[in-house]
Amino acid sequence: MKILVTGGAGYIGAHMAKWLARAGHEVVIFDNLSTGFRFLARYGTLFEGDLNRPETIERCLEGQAFDAVIHFAARSLVGESVQNPLLYYQNNVSGTVNLLAAMDRAGVRRLIFSSTAATYGNPQSVPIPETAPTRPINPYGRSKRMMEQVIEDAVAAYSFDAVSLRYFNAAGADPEGELGECHDPETHLIPLVLQAALGKRPAVTIYGEDYPTPDGTCVRDYIHVWDLVAAHDAALSALMEDRVKGYDVFNLGIGHGYSVKEVIEVCQRVVAQSGCRIPVQVGPRRPGDPAELVADSRKAQRVLQWRAHHSDLETIVRHAWAWTRRYLG
Ligand code: UDP
Repeated sequence: MKILVTGGAGYIGAHMAKWLARAGHEVVIFDNLSTGFRFLARYGTLFEGDLNRPETIERCLEGQAFDAVIHFAARSLVGESVQNPLLYYQNNVSGTVNLLAAMDRAGVRRLIFSSTAATYGNPQSVPIPETAPTRPINPYGRSKRMMEQVIEDAVAAYSFDAVSLRYFNAAGADPEGELGECHDPETHLIPLVLQAALGKRPAVTIYGEDYPTPDGTCVRDYIHVWDLVAAHDAALSALMEDRVKGYDVFNLGIGHGYSVKEVIEVCQRVVAQSGCRIPVQVGPRRPGDPAELVADSRKAQRVLQWRAHHSDLETIVRHAWAWTRRYLG
C-alpha cells in the first residue's frame, strides 16, 4: 500500500512510518518540521509541507493514489495551548480541514486520526470507555475534539471512512533503539525522569502528591509507542477490509494505571543497572492535570483485534532508557 503519514517526523509518526516501511508499504511523510525532526523521518520519503499552506498538501497528494492517510500532524502541548489557543485552532483544526479538502480532491478516502484522552477532560469515572462524555478542559483537548468532529462530518458528507484513535499516555521507544521520544521543550514524565538520570536536569519534580489516589500522585495509563502504532496498523486493515466503515472511535491504553511515584520507582530500578540514579523533588500540582486517566480499550481489542505486547512499564522504561542514553548520553 501507499500511505501518507502527516507529522511523520514527530515521535509517534516516526514510529508509524517505520512500522509501515517494515511491513513493505510505501511511506510518504508530510511534515513542516516545526516540532518534528528530520533525523526521525528516516522511514519514508519526506515531503516538507504545511497543512496551513493548502497548496503544499494538494501538491503532495496530487496523482499519487494513496490508499490512506494517517494524520499525526498537530501541536500537542497543553500549556502552550492555554497561552496561544488560536495557534492550536489554526494549526490543528484548520490544518485538518485543509487535509480533508485535499484528500477529497485527490480521491483519498481513508483516514486514521491521532486523537487523545484529553478529549475526555476530567472523567467521571475510570476506566474510560469511548461512550464517556467528551468535555475537554483546555484548548489542546478542545482542538483535538474539534478535529474529530470535522472528520466525522466529512465522513458523513463526502463518504470518507475514518477512525479516531484516542491515545492515553504514549511512552517508550522503538525496541530496536533507532527512534525515540524527543520534544523541545520536553514536558513528558518518562523522558524528563531519564534526562535527570543522565544529569541533564538537576532533578525530576513530582507535580503534586495530594491527589485522591493511593499514593497521592497522578495515575496514568502508559502505552508503549510500538503497541500504539500496531493499533494504527490494525485500524488500517479494518478500513481496508471494510470491517470498519464510516466513522469510529477507539481508546488506546492498556487498562491499567501507574502513579507518578510508581513510574519513577521503575525508572530508578532500570537506570540503577547503568549505575545512575534519579534525584526527585516534590512540587505543586500542574494546572489542568486530572487525578486519574485509565483507558477502557476493550473495543479496540474486540473490533480491531489488537493486543498490547510491549506495554509493561519495565519494558517501556528499558526501551526509553536505551534511546535516551544513545540520543543524549
Ligand atoms: N509529571 C510530573 N512531573 C513532570 C512531568 C509530568 O509529575 O516533570 C506528571 C504529570 O503531572 C502527569 C504525569 O506525570 O500526572 C504524566 O504527565 P505527562 O506530561 O507525561 O503526560 P500527560 O498525562 O500530561 O499527557
